[in-house]
Amino acid sequence: MSATATPTPYLPLTRPTIDDETIAGVGEVLRSGWITSGPKVKELEAKLSEYCGGRPVRVFNSGTCTMEIALRLAGVGPGHEVITTPLSWVATSNVILEVGARPVFVDIDPVTRNIDLARVEAAITPATRALMPVDLAGLPVDRDRLYAIAKKHNLRVVEDAAQSYGSTWGGRRIGAIGDFVSFSFHPNKNVTTIEGGALVLNNDAEARLAEQYRLQGVVRSGFDGMAVEIVGGKFNLTDVAARVGLGQFPRLDEFNARRAALARVYFELFDAPAGRDLGLQLPPRDFTTTNWHMFQVVLPGERLTIKRAGVMEKLHAAGIGTGVHYPAIHLFGVYRRLGWKDGDFPLAEQVCRNILTLPLFPTMTRADAERVVRELTAILTAHFRS
Ligand SMILES: *Cc1c(COP(=O)(O)O)cnc(C)c1O
Repeated sequence: MSATATPTPYLPLTRPTIDDETIAGVGEVLRSGWITSGPKVKELEAKLSEYCGGRPVRVFNSGTCTMEIALRLAGVGPGHEVITTPLSWVATSNVILEVGARPVFVDIDPVTRNIDLARVEAAITPATRALMPVDLAGLPVDRDRLYAIAKKHNLRVVEDAAQSYGSTWGGRRIGAIGDFVSFSFHPNKNVTTIEGGALVLNNDAEARLAEQYRLQGVVRSGFDGMAVEIVGGKFNLTDVAARVGLGQFPRLDEFNARRAALARVYFELFDAPAGRDLGLQLPPRDFTTTNWHMFQVVLPGERLTIKRAGVMEKLHAAGIGTGVHYPAIHLFGVYRRLGWKDGDFPLAEQVCRNILTLPLFPTMTRADAERVVRELTAILTAHFRS
């Protein structure tokens, strides 16, 4: 390569696509005189409700508070247990602790990397109130099996669908089916409101209660009426953020189609002879249900003389961003102090130690994916134990 060649730009792990029309729309909101929760929030909620088959939807300022509020709506509190996965963003189980309940982790299925539903029933006790599955990377947990278990044991379900907006189950959209469904619109997710989240509810009574939890428990009536019967928080989304979301949602299918196309490119490249024998565990080849929120490989850790952090550092030096989604939740200090330890969930721990998220976002190109696979192949090939 000549010294004057244009340097290859850094390929980030992900990046949001915000179009000019959206940016102009945000400008209009800022100039309108009403910038916090208002008409744009209502418009976004109406759009989301339509998307979710007419179910009530309320938006919030994160996908974390949506889950916490869902647990409160389900009546989960001290003395109760909630079954979830150790392989998720720590928010999933933090909210269980936040409402005073206890997370009960169930090990994963190493192929889907989601909670192993075959192990869930054995974890149910008289204290269990809810199931909180996570659709890691957007790959949906089997909803038929999940709701069969919930029904049999009379449990509520809070779907942590933070990553699976745009995924489907049985041909129906995640959010259009099920009990509570929580979405996140963090900038790394497939569509964004900068920060934000949405909760899909079952009826108007739940929606009204969710609104109270969203804003200090306040219920207004007439010109001057105000009642506060429950303690709420400050979880409302701004109209500025809602306007960003309104510009994203019409493009959901386009974004997700592009993500799927890039996932196919990764499979093709990893299947090619040069990519063989890397010992990588690829994600399930699902082109029906998932929104391809992430493309995650599991490195052959024990066969390598380099640690995952070393692989990430070398990729970074080659101009490629990667991520870890996620360290095992039960091994964080807060959870260790509550009694969990190494070896409790060996399948999740093995995956969590070795999982690596590769770049995947709509404006990425085939050439970008080729570069990722080329660099990763070179790094791994140079570091196999002899
Ligand atoms: C992003 C995410 C959340 C939390 O969403 P925020 O909007 O960042 O609060 C929860 N669970 C999972 C699995 C996530 O990926």
